[in-house]
Amino acid sequence: MSQPTNITDQFGRVHNYLRISLTERCNLRCTYCMPEEGIKLSEKENVLTHEEIIYLAKEFVKLGVNKIRLTGGEPLVKKNIEKIIRELTALPIQLGITTNGILLDKYIDLLKECGVKDLNISLDTLDKDKFVEMTRRDYFDRVMCNIYQCILAGFNIKINAVLIKDQNDNEIINFIEFTKNNNVSFRFIEFMPFDGNKWDNSKVVSLNEILEKVTSHYGAGQLIKLDDKQHDTTKNYCIKGYEGSFGVISTVTNPFCDSCNRIRLTANGRIKNCLFSATETNLLSPLRAGEDLVPHIIKAVYPKKKSRGGMISDEDFQDKEKNTQNRAMISIGG
Ligand code: SAM
Ligand code: SF4
Ligand code: SF4
Repeated sequence: MSQPTNITDQFGRVHNYLRISLTERCNLRCTYCMPEEGIKLSEKENVLTHEEIIYLAKEFVKLGVNKIRLTGGEPLVKKNIEKIIRELTALPIQLGITTNGILLDKYIDLLKECGVKDLNISLDTLDKDKFVEMTRRDYFDRVMCNIYQCILAGFNIKINAVLIKDQNDNEIINFIEFTKNNNVSFRFIEFMPFDGNKWDNSKVVSLNEILEKVTSHYGAGQLIKLDDKQHDTTKNYCIKGYEGSFGVISTVTNPFCDSCNRIRLTANGRIKNCLFSATETNLLSPLRAGEDLVPHIIKAVYPKKKSRGGMISDEDFQDKEKNTQNRAMISIGG
């Protein structure tokens, strides 16, 4: 049998990075991610099992995927997460995890043993009361404690904060101060529209606004632009002399789609060829029917739109008709 080709879209972008959402369930209820009324969860029998996840990961690896990130919902609440991590790290890939950090202490030894180094931990505030307001749950102390444990354990840590105007944008300098003596990268994510999250352009804190705040606080001479790696979604900076760094993920005001190499697999076995794609490809049915999945994967990615699921202009992106033709973020997997 001939070797399958790489996963390439109509613009020639090669896709070697797969983000797998392990579950739609979560132990937080972040306001920007989960609609207030919750979401209708997929039927249990329509959620990928641990064996199916590993099988699918191997199919993607055959097609050139060499980087996988586990996300959700909260990936660490997935049944059999330990087996999933063990079996994925046996593949020739770099494995990372995006987590809200609540359960990390239980998995530090396992992650170290399996050689998982990259942890993205979400934390939108350094204020305990605001944490409860933003996540609708009271886990601030636990998350902070786990972040410190993971720093001590030597992981490569990125801390993700979704910035929302008048909610946590007054903490930008505090977040950067956290990088003074902690070798982490604090990443500010521009608030993005998804079904049910009450997005409004006026709530977005833009890359430019963040940089203005930082330069007016520290002085332009203290702000250093760092090199961004190929396919990096983050524009990276640091403050002179600080151990850590910070960055901005500017999907709303400065999208970075030209070098996109990402594919998403949802917990119910759908391929999303872009975070904002309105259409999905069902892999679960052909998988369970024993079909060859390669043609399905190739066909799913090829028509990927040039940028943001086709919402190229600011007007398109702000159009509610267009920007809600998608799932809630909790069921996509960030
Ligand atoms: N539960 C895990 C966590 O929170 O890290 C993984 C899943 S979560 C959906 C993945 C990432 O998406 C998180 O960093 C979260 O902050 C981000 N996210 C969720 N909703 C968002 C939104 N509306 N705009 C920007 N980022 C968002
Ligand atoms: Fe859960 Fe992560 Fe969404 Fe918060 S951002 S509700 S932790 S999936
Ligand atoms: Fe890739 Fe879509 Fe994100 Fe752009 S918006 S970087 S095309 S996933």
